[in-house]
Amino acid sequence: MADSSSLHVTAIVAAGGSGRRLGSAVPKQLLELGGQPILRRSVEAFLRHPRVTEVIVAVPAALAESPPDWLQGARVVPGGPTRQASVANGFEAVSERSDIVLVHDAARPFVTAGIISRAIDGALAHGAAIPAVPVSDTVKRVADGNSTHVIVETLPRERIYLAQTPQAFRRAILGEAVALGRRGVEATDEAALAEHAGHRVHIVNGEPSNVKITTAADLESARARTDRADGSTATARIGVGYDLHRLVEGRLLILGGVTVPSDRGALGHSDADVVCHAVTDAILGAGRAGDIGQHFPDTDARWKDASSLALLRAAVAIVSARGWIVENVDVVGVLERPRLAPFRPAIEEQLARALEVADEAVSVKAKTNEGVDAVGRGEAVAAHAVVLLSRRPDRPTTD
Ligand code: MG
Repeated sequence: MADSSSLHVTAIVAAGGSGRRLGSAVPKQLLELGGQPILRRSVEAFLRHPRVTEVIVAVPAALAESPPDWLQGARVVPGGPTRQASVANGFEAVSERSDIVLVHDAARPFVTAGIISRAIDGALAHGAAIPAVPVSDTVKRVADGNSTHVIVETLPRERIYLAQTPQAFRRAILGEAVALGRRGVEATDEAALAEHAGHRVHIVNGEPSNVKITTAADLESARARTDRADGSTATARIGVGYDLHRLVEGRLLILGGVTVPSDRGALGHSDADVVCHAVTDAILGAGRAGDIGQHFPDTDARWKDASSLALLRAAVAIVSARGWIVENVDVVGVLERPRLAPFRPAIEEQLARALEVADEAVSVKAKTNEGVDAVGRGEAVAAHAVVLLSRRPDRPTTD
């Protein structure tokens, strides 16, 4: 067995079909999901995978003649009239050095790196392996011919699995399967041909989300997934923020928009409000929208001496445009003196108002640094914040 550093893995993505079942003028693999063709998503899963060495894509002949830019990282070959023929064409292009060959349906754009890795490992261990998922429904077999609505058997469902792709084979085993296909043996997947050739094909864990887009309803539910966030099905995201400013005489100490009576205040371009700055960064981080320095640079006169509550409002607007709302915020202010506790309710109220959330969604806690380090010596004030964002129910995300 080759070790993983020298292992040569080829992925064949079968996209030769015209996808007529979806009733669209565009072949189904070129229909868009979240702004990207289905095929692009499928191909990129393999181009991105660290253990995949080469990617071969079998596409309709017209597309093979002038492939789109996004297929540049892959080798493009013309597909055949059937899926089996497309895979055979792809197999012709597989490198002689290839140890493991994966065969993937272009119509499964949600394949994960984990499934790909498990399939590779399965083929390394057993020669042939496919991802599959157990069934949860009771499975009935019906009669042939005129009695297709008559059950003849209830199958033991613990022994039934639904096959997915990529299916993974040592190159020689797939070679045998392809040769059987060329001799006219028909099958709906390569595993069946390998089984027919006498090989034992093992199952590795698939994932229910690795669906095949076959019908218009499949496409609709796939779009419901991608239109939410670039293929991610996350319904919430967390962000962390931190800030620290020096304390000097002659400045106000403003925390969470509240002026805290103190002989020293925080030094900075704006009002140097570490609480607002930490929360702003946490919001931007959760929304994967950059950071406070990028959106509100020191050099921008708009923010000079501005209330940092305005930055909070702006950060909320930025993530809202990406489809997220603030669920809750938790803040730790770190300040040696004065005691922050009496100001907590006022700070929480200011933050809740700026964030446009209920009062219960904001928590502010105060600590001292026990005399340790610059904060402990009273030379600086700091704040930590975490924010949880959830999807705006009214609007899909676009990031
Ligand atoms: Mg700051």
